[in-house]
Amino acid sequence: GSKEPVNINNLTGEYFKLAYNGLRAKDKTFNAALVTNFDEGLPPVNMIQQDIGRVLLNLFNNAFYAVHQKQKTAGDDYKPEVIVETTIVTPPSGGRGAVISVRDNGMGIPDSIKEKIMQPFFTTKPTGQGTGLGLSLSYDIVVKGHGGKIDIESKEGEYTVFTITLPVG
Ligand code: ADP
Ligand code: MG
Repeated sequence: GSKEPVNINNLTGEYFKLAYNGLRAKDKTFNAALVTNFDEGLPPVNMIQQDIGRVLLNLFNNAFYAVHQKQKTAGDDYKPEVIVETTIVTPPSGGRGAVISVRDNGMGIPDSIKEKIMQPFFTTKPTGQGTGLGLSLSYDIVVKGHGGKIDIESKEGEYTVFTITLPVG
């Protein structure tokens, strides 16, 4: 595909539901609260829609997997939740960035593996459930393909936030 202006809120909202419904179709016991907080003033962003779609789908699948895993060991008062937000940032260095953040209150990422998760084929999932290619492919798409960045914040056992920033033309 080639780059075209895309409404990020629409794309994000569609893939969020798609990922959730896909997982629910496979496992009816899975549930999570889906929260969206979209900046309606976000301008269209030039992107290869299919590529950024794949990035989002992987982030959502990872987030849902993380809350699902935590749900298996957590008490009844655990409420699985995935929050997706969009916003626009204007760094002091100039330019503008469209930001998409995906936050889950799942199992988190242990410090011991934080350095490794972007590497191709690194996965903590059982065979057949993960290829370990999602994040390394996302790095290629976001950073190399779109001049953007990916930031990660996580606390083991508590939460993970992935933040994608794409330059706005
Ligand atoms: P895969 O999903 O196939 O394992 P990814 O590249 O998407 O491959 O992710 C690599 C690893 O990063 C995962 O196996 C997991 O250990 C960790 N990870 C990614 N996202 C999350 C998340 N939201 N919460 C906890 N761990 C995560
Ligand atoms: Mg993945």
